Amino acid sequence: MAVKGSSAGSRESLWVTLLDTLFPPHCVACGAAGEWFCRSCMRSIPGEGRLGQVRRLSNASHWLAGALTLSPHVSPLRQGVHALKYGGMRVLAEPLGSLLATGWRQQSRQADCVVPVPLHPRNQRRRGYNQAELLARVLAEQTGLRLCA
Ligand SMILES: [Zn+2]
Repeated sequence: MAVKGSSAGSRESLWVTLLDTLFPPHCVACGAAGEWFCRSCMRSIPGEGRLGQVRRLSNASHWLAGALTLSPHVSPLRQGVHALKYGGMRVLAEPLGSLLATGWRQQSRQADCVVPVPLHPRNQRRRGYNQAELLARVLAEQTGLRLCA
């Protein structure tokens, strides 16, 4: 993770700026120019920005108190998740993690920490990252929850 103001962070930021200039962002869901996941698509996700849309699953096991979902896995969210998971688009962790943070802040539950679902080591080596960890980092940063990874 880059530290703001560090030379490594500056180099990373410069690199991202150069890449954005050469390959301008476009929404992975609708193709709109300007962002990797546009505001229009963000607003069209069921549950985004609305209280009471985070649901508790009824089939939690004895070691898992419950699970919260933000939205059904449908377009455009589905396209964003697929691009993050299979398309190598780590940049999508920020907008998608922000959706999780918004959903978390709008419910009244407490949590000890955020634990990303581990990825099989073979898949992590092949992919180069764990998308759940990227999302968990954004969620933790934006909500103040501790990240247990
Ligand atoms: Zn879009």
